[in-house]
Amino acid sequence: MSKIHTVAAEKGTVPYYRPRAAEVDVFLHAAERHLPVLLKGPTGTGKSRFVEHMAARLERTLYTVSCHEETSAVDLIGRYLLLGDETIWQDGPMTRAVREGAILYLDEVAEARPDVIVAIHSLTDHRRELYIDRRNERLKAADGFMLVASFNPDYQSGNRELKPSTRQRFIGMSFDYPDQSVEAEIVRTETGAEPALCDKLVQLAANIRSAILPGLQETVSTRLLVDAAALAASGIPPRLACTVAITEPLTDDRQTAAALNDMIALLF
Ligand code: ADP
Repeated sequence: MSKIHTVAAEKGTVPYYRPRAAEVDVFLHAAERHLPVLLKGPTGTGKSRFVEHMAARLERTLYTVSCHEETSAVDLIGRYLLLGDETIWQDGPMTRAVREGAILYLDEVAEARPDVIVAIHSLTDHRRELYIDRRNERLKAADGFMLVASFNPDYQSGNRELKPSTRQRFIGMSFDYPDQSVEAEIVRTETGAEPALCDKLVQLAANIRSAILPGLQETVSTRLLVDAAALAASGIPPRLACTVAITEPLTDDRQTAAALNDMIALLF
C-alpha cells in the first residue's frame, strides 16, 4: 500500500472559489497550452480550493498529493505489490493522472524527496512523458494532463526551497491574504455566518497580521477565520470560537497566546 494520502476528486459540482485577480483566466490558458503551474503562498490562502475549482470547471479528474519529507517517486509513480503468489503493478497518482489526462496537484512539492523533482522534469517540458523505470516504460501524457504544484516560500517557517531549475519549469502565481472586503465575502459564503461577525473576524485578522508577534511562525489565514466563523455560526460564543480556531492552532507559546487572546477580547 502506498504511504501517501491521495485524494481523487471526481468531476462534478464546481466548488466555490472567489477569484482575486486574473488567476482563473491564467489557469485556463495554461491548461490549454500545457503549461505547468506553481502556486506560491502561505497556508490557508485558497490554493487548494482554487485547484479544485479549476479542475471542476475544466471537467478533469483531480489527484491531490500532500507531499512531505518521505514522499518518494515510487509513491507517485507506482509499485509492484505481492498479492498472494501473484505480483501486480499498481499505478501511483502521477501515473494515473498522466494516463487519464487528469490534473495532478502536488501540494507542498518542495517538501518531497529529490527523486520526485527528477520525475517531474520530463513531464514539465516538451516531452510531457513519464519514465517508469521499474517497468522500463515511457508514458506519453494524455492531452488533459496538467501538473500543478504549490510551494510556501516562507523560509522562516522552515520550509524547503525549490531549485531555480525546477521553478523555471512552471508559470507562477502568488497567493496572499485577500483584501478585507473579499475576505469577509469568502468567510460569509463559506459559513453562512452573520455579516457583522464576519467583518469583525476579518478586522481581527488584519490586527493580528499587522502586529509584531515573534512567537508566530505563520499568521492567521483565511482558513482559520472560516473555522472560527463556522463554530460561531453553530452556536459557540465568538470569543471561544476565536480562541480554539485561531489562537490554539497558531501558537503553543503562552505569551503569544495571551497577546492573541487580548486582541480577540478587544473585538468580541
Ligand atoms: P491552501 O491550499 O492555500 O493552504 P485552502 O485552499 O485549503 O488553502 O483554503 C483554506 C480555506 O480557506 C478553504 O477551505 C476555504 O474555506 C477558504 N478560502 C480561502 N481563499 C478562498 C477563496 N478565494 N475562495 C473560496 N474559499 C477560500
